[in-house]
Amino acid sequence: MTLQDHESWGRIDNRVRPGISPDDYEDRLGSLEAEGYLPFGNGRSYGDSCHNDRGTLIESNLHGRILAFDPGTGMMTCEAGVTLRQVLERAIEHRFFLPVTPGTAFVTVGGAVANDVHGKNHHARGTFGNHVTRFTLLRSTGERLTCSPVENPELYAATIGGMGLTGLILTVDIRLMKVPSPHVQQHAIRFENLDQYFALVDGVDAEHEYSVAWIDQLAKGSRMGRGVLLAGDHADGSCELPDIPKGLKLSVPFSPPFNLLNQATLKGFNEYYFRKVKPGETVTTVPWTSYFYPLDAIGAWNRLYGPRGLYQHQSVYPAENAPEITAKLMETARQAGHASFLTILKRFGDIGSRGILSFPRPGFTLTLDFANQGERTVKLLDALDRIVVEAGGAINPYKDARMSPQVFEKSFPFWRKIETLRDPALVSNFWKRTALALPE
Ligand SMILES: Cc1cc2nc3c(=O)[nH]c(=O)nc-3n(C[C@H](O)[C@H](O)[C@H](O)COP(=O)(O)OP(=O)(O)OC[C@H]3O[C@@H](n4cnc5c(N)ncnc54)[C@H](O)[C@@H]3O)c2cc1C
Repeated sequence: MTLQDHESWGRIDNRVRPGISPDDYEDRLGSLEAEGYLPFGNGRSYGDSCHNDRGTLIESNLHGRILAFDPGTGMMTCEAGVTLRQVLERAIEHRFFLPVTPGTAFVTVGGAVANDVHGKNHHARGTFGNHVTRFTLLRSTGERLTCSPVENPELYAATIGGMGLTGLILTVDIRLMKVPSPHVQQHAIRFENLDQYFALVDGVDAEHEYSVAWIDQLAKGSRMGRGVLLAGDHADGSCELPDIPKGLKLSVPFSPPFNLLNQATLKGFNEYYFRKVKPGETVTTVPWTSYFYPLDAIGAWNRLYGPRGLYQHQSVYPAENAPEITAKLMETARQAGHASFLTILKRFGDIGSRGILSFPRPGFTLTLDFANQGERTVKLLDALDRIVVEAGGAINPYKDARMSPQVFEKSFPFWRKIETLRDPALVSNFWKRTALALPE
């Protein structure tokens, strides 16, 4: 057994947690303790969905080999612990790219399947699971099941977005996307307030593969919701940037004793970021690393929040009342004296997810990052939850560390289906805190 910290990204509860390799887990099959385990990828989930504090984590990232790649079709088979960065490093020279990618490449393929992650092109390609043709799943009975839309389809649908509860994913087959260049022709469109954003977004999404907006959550009055829409498409083949750009990788070496990302530093940063972009639309070609993964350039940036960590609140709500709900969420945070360091707004399209418990659904998704200030912050997050569920929306479970069982049930009314298919050897802190705390 190894002892590592196995932190999740929010670092709210960063106690040391025990882990074992997938091989050691397999050796124990037949004598596994009920609810004694949970697969763990790279800990890029923000809260407690990747932890099982009464048990042992299975370190899926120790199995990180690409097993096959066909540069003709873009089909890749890999072990679940391969990171998205490794996938890209292999595929890019053949002009293939991930069809869906979250905002960090330090995520494992197993973690991306288990959370059915989404990216800046949800409106065009759906979620990660939409591109997973097959995977093998190890159940604690010792069975190794091939799961696809036609083989074990129930477990396929329960495992995509199933947060690691249905078994240990061993290998994944994924269809990559052919692109003329990995780099991106970026359209940076500045908007002066939320109304302008909502007037722009449908047209921009219809024209571009990628689209996501950064918002200045602290701006008030007529500037409320000002920001920058970053739309993009893969650049054409004549783009001359190097395939794997070499950049200085900075890293935060230790956690400072207090939160460096406070209201004062953020105000200055927001003003600078907004003014950096010229009014109107600016078109440039940017390296894939900076378009998709700007935060990966600073290792362990989550430590800047200090020892108490951060909460991320990601919600989705229907498009009909999205302008009012978005304004209400940001205003509620501002009035509670909380500044969100990174505020991201995006439209989810209507391509259905394959997973029973997948988070994305048609509507708008707002992501807010808050330094943990204890009870004050939890109170604010509860207030944000109420606004979202009253609007018929949902809260993202793999960004969460505190939502109530009732909010979870309203967000995921079909959760009981996962419970019937859950592997009895596996459970997470999140599942115990929400689903299993609900009356039978
Ligand atoms: C900077 C940053 C940006 C992000 N941007 C986005 C974004 O744009 N969109 C988005 O959707 N998410 C985003 N995320 C969240 C992140 O993509 C997901 O939480 C992702 O699933 C984490 O994967 P991981 O490999 O780190 O797995 P972990 O966080 O360690 O685990 C995630 C889940 O996968 C399960 N799991 C892991 N491996 C296996 C396996 N082999 N078999 C079965 N289950 C397994 C775990 O039990 C757990 O439930 C972001 C996170 C960060 C830190």
